[in-house]
Amino acid sequence: MILKGFEELKTFLDKPRNIVIIGHRNPDGDAMGSTLALYHYFNKKGHNPTVVVPNEYPEFIHWLPGSDTTYRFDWQNSQSQKAINNSDIIFLLDFNALHRVGFDMQNTLEKYPNDFAMIDHHQQPDDVKYMYSDVEICSTCQMVYQFIEMNNDLDLIDADIATCLYTGIMTDTGSFRFRSTTSKTHRVIADLIDKGAKNDKIHNNVYDANSYNRLLLLGQALSNLQILPSYNTAYITLTNEEKKRFDFQKGDTEGVVNYALSLKGIVFAAIFIEDADQNIVKISFRSKGNFSVNKFSRNHFEGGGHDNAAGGKSDLSMAETVTKFVTLLPEYKKDLETSYEN
Ligand code: 5GP
Ligand code: MN
Repeated sequence: MILKGFEELKTFLDKPRNIVIIGHRNPDGDAMGSTLALYHYFNKKGHNPTVVVPNEYPEFIHWLPGSDTTYRFDWQNSQSQKAINNSDIIFLLDFNALHRVGFDMQNTLEKYPNDFAMIDHHQQPDDVKYMYSDVEICSTCQMVYQFIEMNNDLDLIDADIATCLYTGIMTDTGSFRFRSTTSKTHRVIADLIDKGAKNDKIHNNVYDANSYNRLLLLGQALSNLQILPSYNTAYITLTNEEKKRFDFQKGDTEGVVNYALSLKGIVFAAIFIEDADQNIVKISFRSKGNFSVNKFSRNHFEGGGHDNAAGGKSDLSMAETVTKFVTLLPEYKKDLETSYEN
């Protein structure tokens, strides 16, 4: 755990400040939940916060309280730049390195004259002035809760903050089932329910909001599933043509990789998705046990993340990317065989 400059930050925040809060590109439940929770908290503390979102995020998290106050850096660029230029400090949430916001926004942030404060649970964090980094914590939302707790402000958590935090903890822990879910996580969740998070409604909003096409796309993904039993590995591919056929919308492939990991005996799963906009194959990796997909992705696919959930990319074609992946597996045979023996 790294906690750097916390007392100084507290003093800095004694006065009302213009604060910009940013999550990573392609925001997920944890990025949106944590930035919006911090937004509501800073509002209550008398600051003037603005959440700037790098790009589009899935429909199933649009309902989060405060979502309508955010600026999108890609298509509300002048408002976003203005908020950044007028800010006294920028909070970086749920990401560890400036390049994770995407190229244009990274350029803007690199010229930023004031200080950054990071609250994040990813490995290998960049060094910024104020830091709260803990790779052991399941979600940035739990860290925001603990940040509020360190400020002795738990009483300020209202139903909106509780709802945002609950959502990110729920999505980043696979509904409280991953290894990162601790007794502290459950205590935080219990407190959030007491403070007004409607757990049934949140699960319903996030997980039972599928379109028919999304289910058909899932069907396609499952029929593309390949299993490599000798490496305890399974992978899924989705091409642009398949995405188009089922009217792909942002977020439609979220969680699909977990179906590959749900196969008995599988400890390593990947999904390869063609991304026509960026002309890359975007990859999600998941694992069970000791096999670190963070390391695997950093070493071979220009990515990173956590030990059991990471992302990466490839500039090769889909076929070449899959061949590269399959060719790498023999090197990891032993690790994959023993991954879940603990
Ligand atoms: P997902 O597979 O759900 O997109 O991401 C899994 C985890 O890996 C998330 O914590 C996400 O922030 C991180 N991640 C996804 N893509 C990348 C990437 O290209 N680079 C790095 N460093 N992390 C990533
Ligand atoms: Mn997260």
